[in-house]
Amino acid sequence: MATFFAISFVKSQQLVPSIDSLRHHIYYLASDELKGRKTGEEGGKLAADYIKNRFQTYGLEPISGNSYSYPYQLMRTHKDYAVVTYKENILFWPWHLYMVSNYKQNDTLFNKLVFAGYGSDAELEQLQLNGKAIAFIADQPQEAYQVIQNIQNKYSIITFFVLFTKKNVRVDNAWSIDYKMYDYMLPSDFEKLKSIKITEPWASPPSGDSLNIFYCFPNVMRNVFDKTDAELETLAKDNKNQKGQLLPAFPEPEIEIFISYSDSLDIAAVENVGGFIKGKDTTQTIILSAHYDHLGEDYGQLYHGADDNASGTAALLENARLIALDAQQGRIPERNILFLAFSGEEMGLLGSKAFVSQPPFPLNQVVLNINMDMIGRWDEQHEMNKNFVYLLTAGHQSRKYFKLGKHGLNLPSGFTVSKNPGFNEKLTFKYGSDHYSFLSNKVPIAIFFTGLHYDYHTSSDIAEKINYPNLTIITGLVYQYITKVSNNKTSYPLPSHK
Ligand SMILES: [Zn+2]
Repeated sequence: MATFFAISFVKSQQLVPSIDSLRHHIYYLASDELKGRKTGEEGGKLAADYIKNRFQTYGLEPISGNSYSYPYQLMRTHKDYAVVTYKENILFWPWHLYMVSNYKQNDTLFNKLVFAGYGSDAELEQLQLNGKAIAFIADQPQEAYQVIQNIQNKYSIITFFVLFTKKNVRVDNAWSIDYKMYDYMLPSDFEKLKSIKITEPWASPPSGDSLNIFYCFPNVMRNVFDKTDAELETLAKDNKNQKGQLLPAFPEPEIEIFISYSDSLDIAAVENVGGFIKGKDTTQTIILSAHYDHLGEDYGQLYHGADDNASGTAALLENARLIALDAQQGRIPERNILFLAFSGEEMGLLGSKAFVSQPPFPLNQVVLNINMDMIGRWDEQHEMNKNFVYLLTAGHQSRKYFKLGKHGLNLPSGFTVSKNPGFNEKLTFKYGSDHYSFLSNKVPIAIFFTGLHYDYHTSSDIAEKINYPNLTIITGLVYQYITKVSNNKTSYPLPSHK
């Protein structure tokens, strides 16, 4: 009997995922105990530990030495206060001044401040700029960044005051700045306002030199320059249009200012989790990924994230188990398969960005990234027939990779593989998950998902609402898919990176 079973196992090319394992993973990952698996918090760590334990049990090789952890850092700053002193006046604008990319937590800078209109080359040439702080007008942040880059290429300047001409400008994707009217502060108000802290969102540590960028709104600089908003703008516009003489816009060409500020900085050590099944050819790798983090808790609401993305994480684990079993039974894949669970996704793909910036092997050895994000529910289009999955592909050989899903797999009857999601799903496909970090590094991608629904990013994305039979089918399709890609080097070659 024993012999008989051994032979039948070797012959069998298709293991099947277990609905009970998938359910078990999701009920744990989306439980109250994990508190929404927020990156950098206890629940996120518990989720990572769970995945590591499973990888170890299944017999995967650790991604790094003897560890399944692939760590990276996040930072965030608390803007405690920033003060600019000009003559005897304290000018203090907690909502108007922002500092970015600066690791110094406390500092006082003495600077000569030079006004340079819109910061065009013609304007800059008129001024003595090196070592000074520079103020210039911008309509939009994008424009400001370009000016700053241009100035930095030519002069040694680290302190910039960007004077926005509009009241509400979106400075970053993450937040917009409120417009509040504070021109001059009484010392007593100043003391009060010093206690206000602004905490920025978690972000990847910036690279490059430190830089102070103060974003200022129209009412701010008129005090320093003793001009009305309109006068400042007219002067800048004249400069921009090169009407008449090019002039620095002040009675005094340079103004002496003191800037002092206090920030505090949090650094969080966080982790992606990874494990390998080594292939016969270890110079090529297919990456199967899913993010395990979610939104945590907010105002007493717990975001369980059962579909987003305990569903994808469960399918990742189940695929790891099956492919490890295949390998143990002698069906070694032709190429490496790396199982990768990302954190930081909900904060802006931070985990996958960190991964692609410091991968454990060169990214030009990656054949394909298969990403799973939200595969446990169904979208509006599929209320009537829930037996489906979207497969979206991009990059090298994307048509072939779609065709494989549509025609190359053993699909249950009545099950559809579609590449035509709704509008919102299309957006998600482009930027919405970790595959984007790979695609922007020229790694082809294939993503499996079942679309958006009313519980997306709400506290009612819970384990009870998952469509387990369909999730089991999709998990099995991913297993067939990855097996076919990994074993057919001729049809699915490594993309050439010339
Ligand atoms: Zn997600």
